[in-house]
Amino acid sequence: MKAPSSKFIKVKCEDCGNEQAAFSKPSTNVRCVVCGKTLIECTGGLGNVKAPIVAELE
Ligand SMILES: [Zn+2]
Repeated sequence: MKAPSSKFIKVKCEDCGNEQAAFSKPSTNVRCVVCGKTLIECTGGLGNVKAPIVAELE
């Protein structure tokens, strides 16, 4: 049994180059831990990813 629609992804902040792991279906906006730029917008469902995805994690 797997949860199909959500997973962890690694996104890269375009402003400062920081890469961080984030949940693809966040309950709040995901911000860059370095500069605070919004990387994934919370939509109530699958997040609106605003930063380049560099990897998809299991
Ligand atoms: Zn940043």
